Amino acid sequence: MITAPAAGIYVHIPFCRSKCRYCDFYSLPDREHQIGRFVASLVTEIREAVDEVKGWKFDTVYIGGGTPNLLTPEQLGAVMQALKDTFGLEGLEECTMEANPGEASEAQLRGYREAGVNRISFGFQSFDPKLLQFLGRIHTPEDNFTSFEMARRAGFDNISCDLLFNIPGQSLKRWKADLAALVALGPEHISTYSLTMEQGTPLSEEVARGAIRMPEEETDLAMYTWAREYLAGQGYDMYEIGNHAREGRACRHNLHYWRIGPYLGFGPAAHRFDGEVRSWNVRDLDEYLKRVEGGESPVAGEERLTPVQLQNEKLAFGLRLREGLSVTEEMGYESVEAFVEVYGAKLEQLHDSVVLNADRLSLTEKGVLLADSVTAELFLDEEGEL
Ligand code: SF4
Repeated sequence: MITAPAAGIYVHIPFCRSKCRYCDFYSLPDREHQIGRFVASLVTEIREAVDEVKGWKFDTVYIGGGTPNLLTPEQLGAVMQALKDTFGLEGLEECTMEANPGEASEAQLRGYREAGVNRISFGFQSFDPKLLQFLGRIHTPEDNFTSFEMARRAGFDNISCDLLFNIPGQSLKRWKADLAALVALGPEHISTYSLTMEQGTPLSEEVARGAIRMPEEETDLAMYTWAREYLAGQGYDMYEIGNHAREGRACRHNLHYWRIGPYLGFGPAAHRFDGEVRSWNVRDLDEYLKRVEGGESPVAGEERLTPVQLQNEKLAFGLRLREGLSVTEEMGYESVEAFVEVYGAKLEQLHDSVVLNADRLSLTEKGVLLADSVTAELFLDEEGEL
């Protein structure tokens, strides 16, 4: 157990109205009738974690899914109350809830706010009706606008919106129009994701059998580059590879993940990490309910990270941040020289992609475009060698 300066709490709500074509999150359609039972188990799981984390100071809560807005404000309030009773949450600075456009009324949004949520993250994905339909989303572009305005009227002054690019059939012109439409709304935070094929999703199967063709790599890159340049010009700092924020509005909760900080997780498929050990709950709602109702732990497995694995993770996630990471404080080298002794030759080889400035390692503009392959080059093997 560690005494962390700050930690986050993730709560997973595994229900959705319908399943999107590209989604590999753990979420189930047609199970809304079980929400009441699920909330009771979630509250039990949270209350039983009271002894797990003495000394942790929680400053963020993130309620994700799935579709958290399928819970009523009262149900969400019960979850928040359990979190407060168990962990205090006196230092809570950010409480995010994911929501789908068109699914929550203004009264509902106000209720979530009263329950303690102070940041909403909307999954807009696109403003094009055909692309939304292709993705299997059940909302319309109008729902994006309406939900955003309702959230503002409900008192949310911190709103994040997700958009997808690299969608089959999406032109660069359409992508530019989507970004412009979103910027005109003025959210505090924008996440842009390239559509990827996750194994086992309908999309990946359709692509594998040739029914759908993904866009060319150059299109993907052109869309990414445009988003980065355009959003920077509109006052959104790309503080992480796919995340852009107005000043002071970076997602604090996700920063815990990117800095390999500690966090707790509740609900099926949720993970937790204490700085050394990562564990995860069963990825099965029925099994989760059975275990919690039967007084058993829902934890399905755990792994203790070796020092090398931990270091590789710190690098992989830390380099996603514009500010990069400290090779002394975060990576644990006793001096910059000690770090250079291990990584110096590789850094020279990657000089146009990675830069070491004083004790901070970060990606260059070019490196950002090749982030995955560059960080892979910097991974140590189990012997601690490059
Ligand atoms: S709404 Fe989100 S979690 Fe639910 S199926 Fe669609 S992408 Fe997945």
